[in-house]
Amino acid sequence: MTGPTNPSGARARELRALLNRAAYAYYVLDTPEMEDPVYDRLYRELEQLERLDPSLITPDSPTHRVGGATATGFVSVQHRIPLFSLDNAFNLSELEDWYGRLLRVLEQPPGTALPMVAELKIDGNALALSYEAGVLVRAATRGDGERGEEISANVRTIASLPLRLNLQNPPPWVEVRGEALIPATTFSQINDERQARGESLFANPRNACAGTLRQLDPKVVARRRLDFYAYTLHLPPDWSSPDTTNPNDDPPPPNNQWQALAWLRHAGFRVNPHCALCADLTAIEQFATLWEDKRNQLDYATDGVVVKLNDLNQQEEAGFTQKAPRWAVAMKYAAEEAPSRLLRIEAQVGRTGAVTPVAFFNPVALAGSTVARATLHNADRLAELDLHAGDTIVVRKAGEIIPEVVRVLPELRPAGAVPVTLPSACPECGALLVREVGEAATRCVNSSCPAILRGSLRHWVSKGAMDVDGLGSKLIGQLVDRGLVASIADLYRLDAALLASLERLGEKSATNLMQALAESRNQPWARQLYGLGIRHVGEVNARTLARAFPSAASLAHGARLEPERITAVHGIGAEIAQSLQQWFATEANGRLLADLVKMGLSLATDESSDHPGADPAPGRFAGQCFVLTGTLPTLSRREAQDRIEAAGGRISAAVSRRTDYVVAGAEAGSKLAKAEGLGLKVIDEAGLLNLLQGSAE
Ligand code: NAD
Repeated sequence: MTGPTNPSGARARELRALLNRAAYAYYVLDTPEMEDPVYDRLYRELEQLERLDPSLITPDSPTHRVGGATATGFVSVQHRIPLFSLDNAFNLSELEDWYGRLLRVLEQPPGTALPMVAELKIDGNALALSYEAGVLVRAATRGDGERGEEISANVRTIASLPLRLNLQNPPPWVEVRGEALIPATTFSQINDERQARGESLFANPRNACAGTLRQLDPKVVARRRLDFYAYTLHLPPDWSSPDTTNPNDDPPPPNNQWQALAWLRHAGFRVNPHCALCADLTAIEQFATLWEDKRNQLDYATDGVVVKLNDLNQQEEAGFTQKAPRWAVAMKYAAEEAPSRLLRIEAQVGRTGAVTPVAFFNPVALAGSTVARATLHNADRLAELDLHAGDTIVVRKAGEIIPEVVRVLPELRPAGAVPVTLPSACPECGALLVREVGEAATRCVNSSCPAILRGSLRHWVSKGAMDVDGLGSKLIGQLVDRGLVASIADLYRLDAALLASLERLGEKSATNLMQALAESRNQPWARQLYGLGIRHVGEVNARTLARAFPSAASLAHGARLEPERITAVHGIGAEIAQSLQQWFATEANGRLLADLVKMGLSLATDESSDHPGADPAPGRFAGQCFVLTGTLPTLSRREAQDRIEAAGGRISAAVSRRTDYVVAGAEAGSKLAKAEGLGLKVIDEAGLLNLLQGSAE
């Protein structure tokens, strides 16, 4: 039953309405309302609902018709042979499913390898061309598959399309299908011109092509230089060319798709050269993978690979579903956008107290990985998106880019859904959250908030700071929750027996962790400073500041009493100076520094650690510039850099005449060659260690 109480029925109705509207905007108005992959997934959802409960199917369902209504302005014509759509496979496993179904329909044993043709799926507009006695008599759009719009005058302007077939004895009629397209370069020109005229822009080359084909003035079409690739041939069933042996004569009617492409080429059509006759699915997969990468080099848009059973008799045997052939499938490239259902929003508190709303949604496959959450950045973004509980959202992830929530589909919002906002109290400690005027972030300002403490501890032990191995987020969580650690200094009060008693931490790991913590005491001052997590003091600024102020005491003095000395440091501005001033003026931070010193941390460069507060003696490398290149045998890049900087040296990324030393390791490349060309001093790791030893004397 599909009464109003049936949730699937309600969802199907919503999806139908939304998809029908989108299809109208796409096919008739040429101005899509939603991203293609979003349309595809919602369409798939509707298909599944209808499959589970066929009573949900209505005559107007978009799953049961090809394309959209035909636009007005042109004569509607009946196609001699209907044009179909293609079923989609969104990944290799769906491709395998399609192939399995095909074998069953053809009553072939599982595992049978049938030759197939792989063609690029050009994202253009299908055209139906009718030739009679070798002459183009009619060209029409696909329309609803049965009837299309007659656009012969416009199509005749496409230079790469034969108006007369290159055949000695043309059949009485020939039906050719293929894709009209606008090259990417022409597309941007068209949009530039439209922008200059103040007209609305085409969303993509496919829409620009559709809009062009429907121009009422063929001269405009001619200027847009459309192109056409043919891919389907229909000949009269009983027709055979006269039997001749002359190689210049017409080719015989094809028995398979591969021969059909050759026939079309011979008859004067452009056929896409990027296609392959594949012996099995593995070859298809290789073709698809190859073109997923290479497609960016093409001057036209492709959105997948069309796979077609090669043998035309077998194609006939396999037949059609209501709207697509069973013998072909469109394998679509990994989508970068998808709709998903919002499950909840979590407010996460970072080490600076900043609260980040994070959206959790039903997992979706995007750009080759599965995504189930995305940051919403801050309260402003949350408000801008106008998210409501249970919303259907559009999620985007392209390549390595962090996933984001692009927008919501309000049409699919559950009735009575409430807006989602940030909580007013910290989800960790319950303190009221604060948002300062002009600030994007909402913050928890309770310095003893466990979330802030956990974040500070994670930062202190991270790679760029103290680099303590074996102290992950889970363990930090346990230490904080049990009250064993209340500040970063407390980490140095832990003992092995206590650690070993913690969940999932054996004696060996506890000893290793103790060792790692002990060693971390010797990390250079710049890393300690970075590890303190002062706002705006990232790794680079920490190194710069540590060079100019060789101890926490000297930096505190500068920050509080002589801020001009801070801003005088190259690369350090007023914002950082202010942040330092605030940090050092906070009493709790002063106690933390004293505590860290008590725990054996230097909080100073080696040379100055005996004289906290005093300006350092310039290191042996003071004023000298080093360039590191290649892999050193024992020191990591970071260690070498730390040691050079601790001795007062400066690291530069590029070799120049001002470089004093180039430290070269294995597989050093162009920097070494340049250094040699300039006659600079090139040393290896041993040479560097010797110099450093000299510096410590
Ligand atoms: P389709 O585009 O997925 O596949 C069929 C079409 O592929 C054919 O008609 C033909 O034009 C084309 N094609 C390209 N190269 C081909 C080749 N070598 N061999 C055979 N055909 C080839 O299906 P469709 O029915 O044209 O359109 C459905 C698609 O349109 C959806 O998957 C969706 O992405 C898009 N659409 C988007 C919206 C939206 O709002 N964004 C709305 C409706 C449809």
